[in-house]
Amino acid sequence: MAHRLSKSRFQTGLQCPKALWLKCHAPELADETDEQRQHIFDTGNAVGELARTAFPGGVLVEEDHTRSGEALKTTERLLADPPPALFEAAFTHGGVFVRPDVLVRTPDGRWDLYEVKSSTSVKPEHITDVAVQTWVLEGAGVPVRRAHLMHLDNTYVYDGERYDVDALFAAEEVTEAAREFMPQVADLVEYQLELLEGPEPDVRIGKHCDSPYTCAFKGHCHAFLPELPVTALPRLTDDLLASLLEANHLAIEDVPLDHPGLSAAQRELCELVRSGEARIDPGAAEVLRALEYPLHFLDFETVMSALPLYAGTRPWQQVPFQWSDHILHTDGALEHREFLHELASDPREHFVTSLLEALGDSGTIVVYSAFESTRLKELAQALPRYAARIERVLSRLFDLLATVRAYVRHPDCLGSSSIKAVLPALVPELSYEGLEIAEGGAASLRYLQTVTRSCTPDEADRTFAALREYCALDTLAMVRIYEVLRGE
Ligand code: SF4
Repeated sequence: MAHRLSKSRFQTGLQCPKALWLKCHAPELADETDEQRQHIFDTGNAVGELARTAFPGGVLVEEDHTRSGEALKTTERLLADPPPALFEAAFTHGGVFVRPDVLVRTPDGRWDLYEVKSSTSVKPEHITDVAVQTWVLEGAGVPVRRAHLMHLDNTYVYDGERYDVDALFAAEEVTEAAREFMPQVADLVEYQLELLEGPEPDVRIGKHCDSPYTCAFKGHCHAFLPELPVTALPRLTDDLLASLLEANHLAIEDVPLDHPGLSAAQRELCELVRSGEARIDPGAAEVLRALEYPLHFLDFETVMSALPLYAGTRPWQQVPFQWSDHILHTDGALEHREFLHELASDPREHFVTSLLEALGDSGTIVVYSAFESTRLKELAQALPRYAARIERVLSRLFDLLATVRAYVRHPDCLGSSSIKAVLPALVPELSYEGLEIAEGGAASLRYLQTVTRSCTPDEADRTFAALREYCALDTLAMVRIYEVLRGE
């Protein structure tokens, strides 16, 4: 059966010919769609639907992707007496099928194309997306006057009542860039269609597996790699990876230290993994001895949404809804305090007041990265009546990550200083494994789903309990890492 391309297949083929081939011939080999990937998809749909309201009088071609033949017929019928705008109209040309998000009729009988994205800027992959659509449209006899990328404007501030679509979206004209790419489209389409008729192409793994998108077949293609694979080497280039794979050096410990092209940092990691020896410089204990008790080990969780949830917030703004504070007293006693906003309302005021009360006026506040500091500065701006007290909190922050980076070398961390890498290496008895929520992205998404969708009280309770467990572990992890670095 002859294959057909869609704009999404075309884009996949640009990223990797093998991914395109697998998508068409062996889709069952794709990684399972996880909650976060599904959420990205749902977000795109919600943003796309909202964008349509900026084009009054537009008509939606309703047939979904399983009814493309009918969608083509509906589009043809609508074009006979065109409305001011068409949403999801269907066109085919040269073996490629596309459904542009928005087409607006112009006075001279041509059309303006709007491709809607939930990002906050134009990215190179958006240009090829618009280019292939324009190529199909013009090939199908639909002249395009201008092409635009309609993305979210991250300076837009939500009033809490309704989205002002004219301010929420920014439409950037990309006609020139798309037309610059268009002369290549015909050859690329021909190449991709031919490729689909042949055997599975042999493509080596590389940076393209994650750029511009994480490939759906990564699990399948990367399955041959051992634990501690060479792909974990810092700043690995495609050339170096190719030379390592050709020499059959799949694990970091297999890499000869004189392998051509290794950087100093990569060689250091290879040496470390080979030696298997953890090195904690005593300088870490010295730095930590200077901290003032009581020591607060603090962590925030935030929620992010393409479409702002609360008045005064912007698209994709990180809004803190939960904190955990493990307090280590001079006598060694460990106390835990926490806050989690369990309502659909804006969490920020309750978050700040409860936090300021818990942190009091004394003691160093230990965080892991600049994340908490950035959120606190944003909170000071959003809630100026607390700004002075937040400023004092900021002056007490200490970043444990910087100390780990400077003084800890552990073979199991694979060059990463993230808490998820450092905890199992330094404190193996404490682990995120088995937690219902085990990383920040999942925490954000589960919170968003719980406060924005109707869920049963039992479901909400379960999510809130999982969030408390996760955030508390983050701060307990910092306490234990601190103790290891102090040599206690
Ligand atoms: S994982 Fe990498 S090599 Fe495999 S199909 Fe995807 S992009 Fe291509």
